[in-house]
Amino acid sequence: MNQARVVNLGTFFIKLALKLNLPIKNLIRVTIFEQFCGGETINDCDATITSLHQSGIGTILDYSVEGEDKEASFDATAAEILKTIDKATGSDTIPFSVFKITGVASSDLLEKVQRKDELSDEEKAAFERARERVQRLCTHAYEHQVRIFIDAEESWIQGVIDDLAYEMMQQFNRERPIVYNTYQLYRHETLEALKTAFLDARQKGYYIGGKLVRGAYMEKERLRAREQEYFNPIHTSKEATDDDYNHAIDFCLDRLEHISICLGTHNEYSSQYCALKMKKLGIERNDDRIWFAQLLGMSDNISFNLAKAGYNVAKYVPYGPIDAVLPYLIRRAEENTSIAGQSSREFLLVKSELKRRGIGSL
Ligand SMILES: Cc1cc2nc3c(=O)[nH]c(=O)nc-3n(C[C@H](O)[C@H](O)[C@H](O)COP(=O)(O)OP(=O)(O)OC[C@H]3O[C@@H](n4cnc5c(N)ncnc54)[C@H](O)[C@@H]3O)c2cc1C
Repeated sequence: MNQARVVNLGTFFIKLALKLNLPIKNLIRVTIFEQFCGGETINDCDATITSLHQSGIGTILDYSVEGEDKEASFDATAAEILKTIDKATGSDTIPFSVFKITGVASSDLLEKVQRKDELSDEEKAAFERARERVQRLCTHAYEHQVRIFIDAEESWIQGVIDDLAYEMMQQFNRERPIVYNTYQLYRHETLEALKTAFLDARQKGYYIGGKLVRGAYMEKERLRAREQEYFNPIHTSKEATDDDYNHAIDFCLDRLEHISICLGTHNEYSSQYCALKMKKLGIERNDDRIWFAQLLGMSDNISFNLAKAGYNVAKYVPYGPIDAVLPYLIRRAEENTSIAGQSSREFLLVKSELKRRGIGSL
């Protein structure tokens, strides 16, 4: 994966082979699927859950089926996420559940709602069904006392996602944070939005659960802003994103009485920044209001070292049928090819560690 050309050719042939129904699933299974996914079903993930747990790392089961824009598939996804909540219930290996609103609602519809377009009766009913699915998932999480993340997505639907998330938080975060919204600090306005959300939650008497991320849709956001000629919502530099991310950590750590956080990041500096600030404020390393999370197959150096040092750490463990999680896998592969990308970084770390231990080379 360190070779951009191999990844580009590989992903092209995988897509082609799947279209032509060529038997390549096994090849995918033993390569990128094994690297980034826990299995095809929840039970398949047991070995990964156990192995992470042995190193003090929790699992966040992430049903990663994407792009099925149909009512039946929204219902099926919601049913599967309920099962992940059941699996997490009372478990000391699965600290959170997670879902994406676009797993249970149509992106096009969410976009229309955000634009405040006039909806047909059918669309109104579809949106109501989507809202009910979100309500069902959060109610189930609350009843089983399982904390649940709502992932953040593209800016043209994130407004609706935020509205739904706050509606759920207001209902279910009265005694402690159960529902966590996700804050993408690569957006100009997110740090301010986090502060406003905090004040609003204080007034209304509920806790904020916040997953802090930089944001995964930078290219897509930029492209669309350029094409449709509106102000790009993403910061103009990585430094500005990093600054807001670290400020968000400060803001939350200073208000832990009312905010609980999970840092969804592979950034070493931010992870260390948070750890140091915790020390400065005299916060216990295993304080349950602060978690660190990385994706399975990435940044193990961060996850395992933090866990070993006694911090709360969990890995997103994506799972689902191979062809359905393929878009996720291809994104991981593509993201990992760039020079600044993860795999180059990790490839170099593994290489230098092998050398240090004198047990071979890559
Ligand atoms: C557990 C977990 C959960 C996640 N959940 C979500 C989610 O719900 N929604 C979501 O959108 N993403 C999510 N992500 C992905 C995350 O947003 C980032 O895309 C990814 O983690 C890379 O950022 P980083 O903080 O790990 O590290 P880094 O490698 O330090 O940062 C890379 C990120 O910085 C930003 N960036 C890079 N270059 C620039 C630039 N020139 N200008 C401005 N910003 C720039 C981009 O956001 C880019 O992804 C999640 C990640 C993890 C680990």
